[in-house]
Amino acid sequence: MSASAPTPHTAYLGLGSNLGDSLATIGQAIHHLDQLPHSRVLACSNAYRSVPWGVSDQPDFVNAVVALRTGLDPLRLLDHTQALEKSLGRVPTRHWGERVIDVDILLYGQHLIGTPELTIPHLWLGQRAFVLLPLLEIAPDAHIPGHGSARDLWQKLRHKTPHKPQKIGKIMW
Ligand code: AMP
Repeated sequence: MSASAPTPHTAYLGLGSNLGDSLATIGQAIHHLDQLPHSRVLACSNAYRSVPWGVSDQPDFVNAVVALRTGLDPLRLLDHTQALEKSLGRVPTRHWGERVIDVDILLYGQHLIGTPELTIPHLWLGQRAFVLLPLLEIAPDAHIPGHGSARDLWQKLRHKTPHKPQKIGKIMW
């Protein structure tokens, strides 16, 4: 008897990089995400250039958000995204510091998850313009469980965002 197919969900992942060829690395990361078991990339935002958040003495970031249809459960997905970060050359640095690649699980369907390894929706989602803007580009009606619509979150945040992330173009993956 064959194992039943895992139930797919749509997850939204935030990608960021500010070391090396960030645009190319984000493209490679998206390509790998599309190759994960039971997974395919449904949509990918443009790339955005953003000023660093939290720790300012580092280069600007390139950011993007992808929608991933996946049958991986959230913790398996985290295992894969962490392995992907390592394979693309990420090494531990200071908290919120510079990195070759960062992959965050922003949303996993409408699930609310709070375990030692994983918080979904991602903890800082509502406070980060470099996440909300690309997310809204590919999911204008996104609902953040426990927080409301992504659009409303951005309306509240935009007045506190002196440097709005700038769209810099499409990502090749
Ligand atoms: P970062 O430095 O942003 O890559 O954070 C990595 C740490 O955040 C890991 O220890 C993860 O287990 C934890 N983490 C908690 N929630 C999430 C999430 N939604 N997506 C990715 N990592 C998460």
